[in-house]
Amino acid sequence: MPNSQISDANPIWFDPTLCLIGGAWQPASSAETLTLVDPSDGAELCQIARGGAADIDAAVKAAETALAGDWGRMTALERGRILTRIGQLVLERIEELAALEVRDVGKPLTQARADAIALARYCEFYGGAADKVHGETIPYLDGYTVYTLREPHGVTGHIVPWNYPMQIIGRSVGAALTMGNACVLKPAEEACLTALAFAHIAQEAGLPAGALNVVPGIGAEAGAALTAHSGVHHISFTGSVATGALVQQAAGKNVVPVTLELGGKSPQLVFDDADLDAALPFLVNAGIQNAGQTCSASSRILVQRGVYETVKSRMAEAYEALTVGPAIQDHRLGPLISNRQKEIVEGFLEKGADLQIVAQGHIVEGAPATGAYVQPRLFSDVPANHALAQEEIFGPVQVLIPFDTEEEALKIANATAFGLVASVWTRDGARQMRLAKSLRAGQVFLNNYGAGGGVELPFGGVGKSGHGREKGFEALYGFSQLKTVAAHHG
Ligand code: NAD
Repeated sequence: MPNSQISDANPIWFDPTLCLIGGAWQPASSAETLTLVDPSDGAELCQIARGGAADIDAAVKAAETALAGDWGRMTALERGRILTRIGQLVLERIEELAALEVRDVGKPLTQARADAIALARYCEFYGGAADKVHGETIPYLDGYTVYTLREPHGVTGHIVPWNYPMQIIGRSVGAALTMGNACVLKPAEEACLTALAFAHIAQEAGLPAGALNVVPGIGAEAGAALTAHSGVHHISFTGSVATGALVQQAAGKNVVPVTLELGGKSPQLVFDDADLDAALPFLVNAGIQNAGQTCSASSRILVQRGVYETVKSRMAEAYEALTVGPAIQDHRLGPLISNRQKEIVEGFLEKGADLQIVAQGHIVEGAPATGAYVQPRLFSDVPANHALAQEEIFGPVQVLIPFDTEEEALKIANATAFGLVASVWTRDGARQMRLAKSLRAGQVFLNNYGAGGGVELPFGGVGKSGHGREKGFEALYGFSQLKTVAAHHG
């Protein structure tokens, strides 16, 4: 690959107009392409394939062929070695992958590098786990030997959004390959370059043809074709609630299991006895990371009245220091993914016109007017039932909500349709335990937020945040099915 030609201006070292189907890079069967835009300046970045139903069908067939061939026969140890090799290659190419994400997603360079490192870590973790997931023997009636086998589903479909392509590919495709599934990946039409780069790297690492197929395209076309395809045996979807519901309906028609990861309105609860110095960086960063376009973003900060004014003024100070600018300049925030997303966020800000803005960050001088930049905003004294405290904004907006008692905090925290992540800041151990049990969320953090995003930690939501778990060993159980074998031998 022509690595020597890579530069910030031209970081693409492969032909982005092709799909990967059965080990061969080829244009969409329609020969049509879509335009990728650099959100830092709104300019065209490149063309990508506009895959459709015919390409998805070919990809599913290629996956079936892989399962019937070398890939399907491979031992868990061999699969693990390939995953580990992919992880090593990703580590060697962090800068190349980060450069793609900077231009494609508008991620500040430091965050793009962190995503590439996370992708490598998923491959390493799952590579090492491949031969450590197994069935069990079950004590049963006299004269029987009973055991379980953990088997792949078969062909798995992966629909990935634009906000964390590398991390989401790592956690879903990485786990699915580890268990011996053959994958069809449909990356987002707004950002798909690292998905294509990952597929090139996987080929280089020796992944057999057809084990991973990538078909970029529009959600309503390639995505819908993938979810409706009767040859797909499991679907992993990350994205919006509305699309997740469509995906689940389509999968339901084929009676296929679905993992849905649909975002949230995750709260942090700050009590009077909290270590505020420890909490402050997490309170702000969990809201503005990736310009707020994070499913597990903490967009609600619930603060007990005794420290409310202190937290408010310290967060305001942090907000005033936030800078927003072109991703390559590595500010705290880059642009949003698109001007369309900017309009959505601005729509929410209009809904908040009646609220008090405590502080806002700054767009740097010289940031192109055509870029999708939004100033981060901190709102205070927001009623818990206000749209800004209930709906996922997917932008750099946080709301402060005061509370008096633990009971009230819990009620507010649990009173949205979502339940992805929650955190509690308190020195009171009994309160930590009570809230860890009663908060409605897939992950609860005590005196931290996100625990550094560990690939080892099962992740997923309740309610409209979705269902199913990815990450950790739990993903390996999700991407496999259990067969019970009962032998009667007398
Ligand atoms: P989306 O749900 O429409 O897109 C996510 C993925 O689904 C993309 O790959 C897309 O091509 C695909 N898709 C779209 N329609 C499909 C269909 N009918 N069948 C199958 N696949 C389909 O999300 P979006 O439009 O990119 O973003 C809109 C909102 O979704 C955001 O504002 C945000 O609130 C939310 N979102 C959440 C996450 C998350 O991580 N939870 C990620 C991205 C977006």
